Amino acid sequence: MKLTYKCKECGLDILTNNGLVSHIVNYHKIKPEEYYEKYIAQEGEGKCLYCGNKTTFIDLKHGYKKYCSFTCRNKWIGEHDEKMSMKCEECGFTIEGPNKNSFSQKFVYHLKTHGLTQKEYYDKYLKKPEEGKCVVCGKPTSYYNFLQGYAKNCSGICAAQAVKAKEIAEERKFQEEQRIIKQTKEEEYKNYVQELKDRVHQFDWEGERNSWLGGTKPRFINTKDNLITDNSMSYIDGQEYSAEGQCVTEHYKEHSNIVETEEFKDFNNIFWL
Ligand SMILES: [Zn+2]
Ligand SMILES: [Zn+2]
Ligand SMILES: [Zn+2]
Ligand SMILES: [Zn+2]
Ligand SMILES: [Zn+2]
Repeated sequence: MKLTYKCKECGLDILTNNGLVSHIVNYHKIKPEEYYEKYIAQEGEGKCLYCGNKTTFIDLKHGYKKYCSFTCRNKWIGEHDEKMSMKCEECGFTIEGPNKNSFSQKFVYHLKTHGLTQKEYYDKYLKKPEEGKCVVCGKPTSYYNFLQGYAKNCSGICAAQAVKAKEIAEERKFQEEQRIIKQTKEEEYKNYVQELKDRVHQFDWEGERNSWLGGTKPRFINTKDNLITDNSMSYIDGQEYSAEGQCVTEHYKEHSNIVETEEFKDFNNIFWL
């Protein structure tokens, strides 16, 4: 998780990193390292990339050091060096280096043969139209180098605002997703209820037909389907009828354990609406 200036402990919006630090230390009495561990640290953070030993905590913004020692750092970089190369757009020559640093040096040195500084080269060939302007206020931003280009924001305040805007957008997206999930569930439930109502209607119709025909259908109350049919009959024509010499109500009581099973609960709830 990324560091934001909203206090994760209480939700308070804070403008700056320093403000957040003093808020959590003074108000919540939490050390920055604890806060970082609780809300920001990712899996494996705080362990030396090379040997796995614990590393030093820097601050909320930077988290933990990547390596426990300078030796580990050099060993890791030595093992993970990646060749880099890039074509010079000015002359078409490809410049190569065994790692990022030596490649950069060679490339900048090469640009001198064209009388170009790396910034001039970047502006001419690599800069995107919207680059170099603060994404929040539009003021010019500072140039880093030809591999990283320009900063996205002109100041810490604008950077904090950009983070906040991103958070708000993420929150909106989350809410929208939740709304769709809820809607889908409601629709599924409506369809389910409709299916049950259709089933009930079918039994209503059978019950009505039977009563018109004078009840020719044999009634075995202790089977599930017939029990429902018989209930719907007595509901529709308001008549009690007997099966095997017993009254409907008694039978209902006698077999109510069947009626109230989970399987029929929804059915009965809707049936009696
Ligand atoms: Zn707080
Ligand atoms: Zn180490
Ligand atoms: Zn060139
Ligand atoms: Zn700005
Ligand atoms: Zn009965």
